[in-house]
Parts: sequence; structure tokens; C-alpha cells
Amino acid sequence: MAVAIVIGAGIGGLAAALRLQHKGYQTTVIEKNNYAGGKLHAIEQDGYRFDLGPSLFTLPHLVDELHDLFEESVDFDYDSHPTACHYFWEDGTCFKAPSTIDGFVKEASQTFDEPTRNLTSYLERSKKKYELTSKLFLEKSLHRWQTYLSKDTLKAILNISKLGISNTLDKDNSTFDSPKLQQLFNRYATYNGSSPYQTPGIMSMIPYLELGLGTYYPQGGMHRISQSLYELAVKVGVEFRFRESVTSIDQSNNKIAGVTTDKSQYKADLVVCNMDVFPTYEKLLLKAKKPQKTLDQERSSSALIFYWGINSKHKQLDLHNILFSEDYPAEFNAIFKEKTLFDDPTVYINITSKLTPGDAPDGKENWFVMINSPGDYGQDWEALVKQARKNIIAKINRTLNVDIEPLIETEYILTPQGIEENTSSYRGALYGAASNNKFAAFLRHPNFNSNIKNLYHVGGSVHPGGGIPLSILSARIAADLIPDAQ
Ligand code: FAD
Repeated sequence: MAVAIVIGAGIGGLAAALRLQHKGYQTTVIEKNNYAGGKLHAIEQDGYRFDLGPSLFTLPHLVDELHDLFEESVDFDYDSHPTACHYFWEDGTCFKAPSTIDGFVKEASQTFDEPTRNLTSYLERSKKKYELTSKLFLEKSLHRWQTYLSKDTLKAILNISKLGISNTLDKDNSTFDSPKLQQLFNRYATYNGSSPYQTPGIMSMIPYLELGLGTYYPQGGMHRISQSLYELAVKVGVEFRFRESVTSIDQSNNKIAGVTTDKSQYKADLVVCNMDVFPTYEKLLLKAKKPQKTLDQERSSSALIFYWGINSKHKQLDLHNILFSEDYPAEFNAIFKEKTLFDDPTVYINITSKLTPGDAPDGKENWFVMINSPGDYGQDWEALVKQARKNIIAKINRTLNVDIEPLIETEYILTPQGIEENTSSYRGALYGAASNNKFAAFLRHPNFNSNIKNLYHVGGSVHPGGGIPLSILSARIAADLIPDAQ
């Protein structure tokens, strides 16, 4: 039987393992941690449950597609959530954004005194951009000539002027009269770890994902996404080796031979690597030719997260909440240029106990409090975390008119260094390379290795990009390039 090895049990690795097993390969996943999921993991502390990483779930059909590959089933369900996000500004403006286009347009035009036609035409353009590009940029390899002969590619090329590739997202969003709406739509750049002042206007397709296709929440928390895929993989015969680190990808005559780990050596007919592509070349492929332009790409932002058990309930907050910085350009300048944290950061608060009361003890809430941060470039994180904690608490107190510090009864902290330690993501980047230039999509690493036959790459650091949906799509693209096992 043909043997496949997957390096890493992140969401991309789990998706790849399921697809390979489905293609008839005897698949083994080798994972350095003692759990599956990578960034999609959870912890419990003092009666609170916290999802450690992602909190926003879009395009759930991509997870369903994996469950539907097999007759065997495991529990996985999700609900749509009527509110995309609850936004707050320090001048007292609040906006509970509905997660449908019609609802959003109606409420936003009232709250921000914005002409309805500005919102409608923006969101129509957003939809058009998504429809023109998703098949080409998200669902196919950009590194195979066949992709460029398809009808979808031709359509995208004919409409290139409508895609906003030469504008920045911020410029695209300047069509709004309201500076607050401009800021709200600029925020979508952070969905792939980029800056709205650098990322191209094509990224204005992202609001369509959230408002046109909906936001969802898995029953049991975000962790159920990775957990259910892991349970399914075990059920259909994928083998897992935890607490084992791959130390080299082995080849013979430019063809995959297997992998070596800190415990053993394995032969394989093909290898799918879910490790971040940067350390893959630095540590596992020492003799391979490096795709230097790809590896030199600026990394996406990282995050500093405080997981707080809060000893009270806060009615003004929802599942997703944003407390905006008063100076958005300066915040992104700090993150991407100065590589430091901004004093007045935009604060994201995610509270899953709003939907799953069991995630916190009675009368309490589990707060996931995150600010965007630069990756780890050797900053003094101890000092930065101490200062950021003060700034975040002050921001929450000012904006929500509360005194939050005495209510924090348990705390866990994750820094960019911690994210890198847990998952090997270079510099703790959340989404691989940033999309801060118009060529970024073409400079991501392909889902196959041009120099080593039968080596494939999946996950957030390669094509088509970071985030749960794109990491899952990377596995689908790779699997489409792999023949069924003989
Ligand atoms: P990873 O999760 O990076 O996992 C890689 C795995 O490989 C790890 O388990 C690691 O231990 C293992 N590994 C690495 N090297 C080796 C080795 N040599 N040997 C064995 N095993 C190895 N995305 C969204 O869609 N929505 C969000 O709201 C969102 N928010 C986020 C918030 C945070 C705080 C973070 C950290 C991420 C967020 N993301 C979000 C991004 C999303 O989590 C990632 O893009 C996605 O999970 C990446 O998955 P991956 O397949 O690349 O694998």
C-alpha cells in the first residue's frame, strides 16, 4: 500500500491527511505537540474554557466537505451568528453590525449617517471581486500553467481594472463619507495579517465573506473544528504520532524517500508538509535550493492575547467585539514599520460563553482579549506585555465605562514568541506572509515542491494563504495534484 506522511497536525495537515487517506494512501501524521490542531487549540483554566487561536469561522462548507468524504461520522455542527461584530469608539459610538448585507446596510447608514447607495455599491463590488477571483486565487494552484488556460482566469483578467489591485484597501475605502466606516472596513486587512495602508484594494472582497456568506460558530467552540477532524481521521485509519518532531525531509535523486524524526526514520511514497515553509527550508530541507524571494516576503502580523476569566457579565458585549484605536494609521505604522505595540491599540474581545454558557462559571465570562502585534524580532516582550496590559485595561475602561482589572480572576497570556514555540510559525506570524504588496499572492510558496518530486506543502504559510478556510483549501489544492494511490 502506498504510504503518505504528513508533517504537522494543524488544520492544513488534518485536511491533507483526510484527503490522502481518502485517496487510498496509508497516512501517518507526525506532530511535535501532544495534541492535534496547531493554532486551533483550547485550554481550560480555573473553570473557564478558552479557544487559544481563531475565533471567527467563515466558509464552514469547507469543513463539511472533509466530513463528507467518508461514511463514518463524528459530531460536528455549527450555527450562524446574527451579529458580525459589535464595534465601539471612544466617543461613545457603538455599532452592532448585522451579519447580512441588507441588515448591515440599513443599520450602518443610520448609525454613521452614510448614504445607503455608498454602502450598497461598495458591498456589490466586494461580492464581484470575490466571485471573480476566488476560483482563481483561492481554489487553484497559481503555479501550474493549466490554471491560466481556464475560463475563470480569462474572466478575472478581463475584469482586472475592477479588482482594485493598484489601490490600497484604505484608498478603496475612502469612498465612504464616514471616517468610522472607513476604519471599520479597513479592519478587514487584519483578517490576513496585513495593513490596510499597504494591502491592495482587492482585499475589499473580505467583507463579502463575512456579510454575504455569513459568520458561524461551531457548537462546542472553535476547537471542535480541529478536534472533529482529528476524531474523524482516527476513525478512518489515519495514524498519529504525537510528541515526535520531524528533523529532516529525506530525498533520493530529487524524489521523496521519507522523513527522519527525533525518534525514528520513516519511508514514504509522498510527504505533505504542514510546517511553516520558512523553518521547513531552514531546518528540514538544509540541502534544497531555497525559493529566496518567497522566504524573504514580509511576515503577517502576530498577536498578543490575554485570556481572562471575568468575574461578572457584560450585557453591552457580544461574541465578537472591537474597541477601535483613535489613530489607526499610527497603530499599523507601529506594528509593521516600528515593530512595536501601539499605546492606543485596537482591542478585540471574543466571549464564547455568550453562546456556550458552560465555557465560564455561572455569572462569569471567558474573555479572549487580543491586540495585533508585530512578529517576534527580538523585542523585550516582558516589558511590552506589561505596558500593553495597562494600555488595554485603560482602553476597555474608557470605552466601556467599566473598571475591569479587579474582575480578572484568572489569566493566561500568549505572545508572538509563544505562538512560534507552539506551532513553529516563523516569528509567530498568524497568517504566514503578509499581503502588503500586490504580488503577494504570486509569491506564496506553491502547494508542491518544484525540486523534490512527491513533496507537497499545505497550511497558512503557503498558497492560497492563512486562516482556517484557506489552510483547508491548500490541502484540497495539494490533493488535486496528487494521484490516487495504486
Ligand atoms: P498550524 O496551526 O500552524 O500548525 C502546524 C502544526 O505543525 C503544529 O501543530 C506544529 O506543532 C506542527 N509542526 C511544526 N513543525 C513540526 C515538525 N518539525 N515536526 C512535527 N510537527 C511539526 N484564522 C481564522 O480563520 N479565523 C480567525 O479568527 C483566526 N484568528 C487567529 C487568532 C490567533 C491568535 C491565531 C494564532 C491564529 C488565528 N487565525 C485565524 C489563523 C489560523 O489559526 C491559521 O491560519 C491556521 O490555523 C493555520 O493552520 P496551519 O495548517 O498552517 O497549521
